[in-house]
This record gives sequence, structure tokens and C-alpha cells, in this order.
Amino acid sequence: MAEHYDVVIIGGGPAGYVAAIRCAQLGLNTACVDQWINARGKPALGGTCLNVGCIPSKALLESSERFQQARSELAGHGIRVGGVELDLAGMLARKDKIVRELTQGIAQLFKANKVTWIQGRGQLLANKQVAVQEHGREKPRTLDAEHVVLAPGSSPMQLDTAPLQDDLIVDSTGALEFRDVPGRLGIIGAGVIGLELGSVWRRLGADTVTLLEAQETFLPFIDEQMARDALRTYAAQGLDIQLGSRVTACEVKNGTVTINYQNSVGEHQAEFDKVIVAVGRRPNTNKLAADEAMLLMDEWCFIHVDEQCKTNLPGVYAIGDAVRGPMLAHKGSEEGVMVAELIAGRSARVNYGTIPSVIYTLPEIAWVGETEQALKAAGRDYRSGVFPFAASGRARAMGDAGGFIKVLADAESDRILGVHMIGPHCSELISEAVIAMQLGGSAEDIAMTMFAHPTLSESFHEAALAVHDRPLHIFQRKT
Ligand code: FAD
Ligand code: NAD
Repeated sequence: MAEHYDVVIIGGGPAGYVAAIRCAQLGLNTACVDQWINARGKPALGGTCLNVGCIPSKALLESSERFQQARSELAGHGIRVGGVELDLAGMLARKDKIVRELTQGIAQLFKANKVTWIQGRGQLLANKQVAVQEHGREKPRTLDAEHVVLAPGSSPMQLDTAPLQDDLIVDSTGALEFRDVPGRLGIIGAGVIGLELGSVWRRLGADTVTLLEAQETFLPFIDEQMARDALRTYAAQGLDIQLGSRVTACEVKNGTVTINYQNSVGEHQAEFDKVIVAVGRRPNTNKLAADEAMLLMDEWCFIHVDEQCKTNLPGVYAIGDAVRGPMLAHKGSEEGVMVAELIAGRSARVNYGTIPSVIYTLPEIAWVGETEQALKAAGRDYRSGVFPFAASGRARAMGDAGGFIKVLADAESDRILGVHMIGPHCSELISEAVIAMQLGGSAEDIAMTMFAHPTLSESFHEAALAVHDRPLHIFQRKT
């Protein structure tokens, strides 16, 4: 006899575990099947994000930033620090402790909310049944559900020309575990992971960090002005970003990786001590559903869903990295809340127009909504206001006054269409823009709002004032 649940969720990452908690809060008898085994051989909740993604990468970004500050930036504040040394083992242990505590925290939340955590691999069968192969057990278990939520997440994409090898050619997971700082670090792909992890190892002392990027345009999906600023700043930090470079082969010899690559100039060869492959991620949908289930996928193996994350099968939803849209933890979590509400018979939607994105380098890059180039391409009539952090008293006091905030508003209605920021603490500042857009706010609404002084948020205020040619702390001619 199959065990019966109101909801069975496959995947315990930020999409699946949030869906499970919200389902339980809404009174639904919920099970979450997750197959993750951590580096210590133990089942762990939290998926990619908590175990090998957002959290460990941000722990290392934070630690490496502090190391760099202590080594070379505090002097600018009139603080002399002598004998700064890297304790890499200590830094990695701190990261692992944070991951352990947070993943255990999810397990406690499951317990408190009475979510059943089933440790093993799940497969969707026909008629909303789920077969589970539990870790360490031979006999599969069958679950019966009123509703099934598929949240299997994604895994790093592999390259035939650069197959992973020991700790020499690694993916993002391996790049969070280097036991020594690589002297010459090569990164294939100058996307979000390449830039964040490249920054970590450069700050920790890598002599050279070279990013080989296939595309000719750097970060084509962000505001063009921000991309130009970012490229210049990263270069000054020692990130050597080679655009239009295609890797054709990799060879490991005597502990060194030789990469052959092509660009518009010709063929090149470069030697590295370690190489990180960071060329995107693909959905974990292989054998997620038995053929008899008839689950519809698209040509790239993402699960086909509508705006409400409903699949082609009645009562079966799919959320997170395995469905269309950006591969971001918060996007998956919001989809998790939405499907829980829908299952409980409530109305719910995700506002896909206000998903914030952040690149956690220095400077931080954050954006929400439309880019200026997309508005131009669509022929939209808009107004733009820009305020540089160089004119912010707080940014100056912090000694971190590079970058700017740009607000784009509809020329007629003044409604905010997009906000783009590069500079200090933009990962936090972007939420102000998200709230404004979520509430349908205009540039004038922000202009009329009072911001505390001296704060970085005042720059958002000033950029909104600049939309109407009236910033107070920079001179701007009327357009
Ligand atoms: P996952 O987190 O991938 O979770 C899916 C879970 O399902 C996993 O535990 C998996 O083992 C399990 N699973 C899969 N198939 C099955 C099955 N058949 N049966 C049982 N279990 C199964 N995003 C951000 O928003 N901010 C960041 O700062 C950020 N930083 C990142 C840094 C790195 C280095 C990486 C790699 C990613 C980062 N991301 C970040 C992306 C983020 O991790 C993902 O968008 C997010 O984890 C997706 O959540 P998910 O629940 O869809 O999938
Ligand atoms: P990405 O899509 O951001 O970047 C991959 C880059 O690799 C692209 O620029 C692509 O052009 C390039 N590329 C692809 N094939 C190549 C090849 N053969 N040779 C050279 N370059 C090649 O992917 P990622 O950096 O691997 O990150 C994966 C996902 O994880 C992203 O979608 C992102 O949303 C998520 N993530 C988010 C954050 C964050 O929110 N701060 C951090 C890390 C990861």
C-alpha cells in the first residue's frame, strides 16, 4: 500500500523546502523527498544554495574581502595593521560551519512544521505517485499524493573540451574547496560564478586570474553602462577577462593544466595551476519522471510550466531552477510559496517583472526590471536618472565611492521600469527598488520620500530626482 500525503515535493533546495514549509503552515500533510548527501556523507537539506552555492560562496566572499581590507585597504583609513596572514583552513572551516548550521536549521524547521523529510531519490510515476529509493535501503517506497511539486534544481554544466579532473579542473563546488590558493587560476566562463569565485581567489592571493569567456560581450544581460564600469574595475583588480575566447582543449600534465583556446586573433595556449569550469547550469530532470508519467519538458530539458508553475499534468507543479526563468534561489522560493497557496485553494502569483539579481563582487552589481538597451530596442519612451556614489557623503566616508545608481521610468506615466546599481552594498539597496516597483511606484514617489542622512539610500533618492532633472547633490542641466 502506498503512503498517502496531501503534497509530495521532490527536492529540498530553496524552492522545494520553502514550498514544503508553506504547505505545512497551510495545514497540508507534506513530505519532501531529497537526495542530497553532503561532503561528510550525511543527508542535508537546502540543496545547491545552502550546501554548495549561495551560502558558502558568500561566506568566502565576505572572508576574502576582510582579508583584502586588512592587508591593503585599512591603511587608507589611517589604521596600520601588521603581519596579516591567511589561515585558509580556518576560513574554509568557518564556511563549512555556517553551511552545517543553516542546513540543520532547515531540518529543525521541517520538524517544527511537521514536514516529513524522506532521504533518497524520488521519481514521478503516473497518477501523482512518487517512487522513492531511500539512501541505504534496497526496497523502493511508493508515495501517493493529491499534489506533487517537482523542485529538482540544477547542476553545473560540463564541457567536453575541459572534463573535470581531481582538484585541478573543477566546477563551482570544487572551487569552494581549494586547500591552497592557486598561483595561476584559469576560469572558463565570465558569468556570475566565474566573477564571484575569481574575486575570492584573487583577493586571497592568486597571482593571476584569467577568465576565458566565449561571448564577445561582457555580461550582455546587464545595463551596458554598468557592464563597462564593471569590466574596467575588475581589470584593475587583476581579473584578466578575455572575451570572445573559445576553449578547444585542456591537458593535465605534471600537475599543470594547459588550455588551448581561440579568439579573433588566433590560437592561444595558457598554463594554469587550477581551472574552474563555470559555463552555466542545467536542470536535474534526467529520469525525474518515468515515461508513463508523460511529463512535458522543453528542448533544453526544463520542465514545461505556465505562469503558475503548473505542468501539463493536473495536480503536478514544478518550480525553481528546473523551470524557465533565472536560476536564482529567491525566484524558486517565491514560486514555492505560490504553488503552496494554489494547492491550498488560495490565489497567488509571482511578479516575474520584479526579480532582483545581484553579482556579489566588489563593487556589487544589482538590478531589477528592464535595462536601458531593452527599452531602446522595444522603442519604449523612457526617462533616465543617474546618481554617482562619488557624490554621496556616506560612500565617501566609507571610502567606497565608485559606481552609480540608475533609475529608468516611463516617460508618460513616470512608473519605474528598471533600476540598475553598481557600488557599495547594492545587494541590500536593490530591495528598495524592488519594493517601489512591486507597489507600482513612480520616480516621483521616490523623489517625494524622505531618506535618512547620511546613507547610501540617498543615492537612490537622488537618481529618482535626476529622472526629472532635479538632483540636489550633482549639477544636471535640464533636458
Ligand atoms: P537546488 O538548490 O539545486 O535543490 C534541488 C534539490 O533537489 C537538491 O538537494 C537535489 O539533490 C535534489 N534533487 C534533485 N533531483 C532529485 C530527485 N530525483 N529526488 C530527490 N531529490 C532530488 N542564487 C541566488 O539567488 N543568489 C546567490 O548568491 C547564488 N549564488 C550561487 C553560487 C553558486 C556557487 C551556485 C552554484 C549557485 C548560486 N545560486 C545563487 C543559484 C542557487 O543556488 C539556485 O538558484 C538555487 O539553489 C535553486 O534552488 P532549487 O531549489 O531550484 O534547486
Ligand atoms: P552564467 O550563465 O552566469 O555564466 C556562464 C558564462 O559562461 C556565460 O557568460 C557564457 O557565455 C560562458 N560560456 C558558456 N560556454 C562557454 C565556453 N565553452 N567557453 C567559455 N565561456 C563559456 O552561469 P554560471 O556563472 O555558471 O552560473 C550558473 C547560474 O547560477 C547562473 O544562472 C546564476 O543565475 C546562478 N548564480 C547566481 C549567483 C548570484 O545570484 N549572485 C551566483 C552564482 C550563480
